[in-house]
Amino acid sequence: MAKRNPIVNAFMKKCPRCQEGDLFIKPFEISNPLNMPDHCPVCNQKYLPEPGFYYGAMFLSYIFSAFFFLGIVGICLMVFKMSANAAIGVMLLVAAATYFFFLRMSRSIWINLLIKYDPKARDKKEVKGFGY
Ligand SMILES: [Zn+2]
Repeated sequence: MAKRNPIVNAFMKKCPRCQEGDLFIKPFEISNPLNMPDHCPVCNQKYLPEPGFYYGAMFLSYIFSAFFFLGIVGICLMVFKMSANAAIGVMLLVAAATYFFFLRMSRSIWINLLIKYDPKARDKKEVKGFGY
């Protein structure tokens, strides 16, 4: 299988090492949105290579959501000529609707940034932490 772009792979929420296994157990789980398997079912890549691994994903989530919500408020104020309170209200509704998307996407992007693609990962089946 050819190497997929890591950004596209992150959007598909696939394992960064084999690009086949799913990062999350269910596509949408409201009671436990961060429910990930311990390792990839295809190549055995650990999804928690070290304690606190996803701490950096929090910063990614902050960056993406802050600029996104700033854009939402800007559009409400300048294009739709809403009051500031109405624009903040719209932003809160959009924030509630996109919460799971940003939460999972930041984890997916974080692990795809730090673990490299390995075309032979499927055959090796060894348990790996980082993909050095
Ligand atoms: Zn995998």
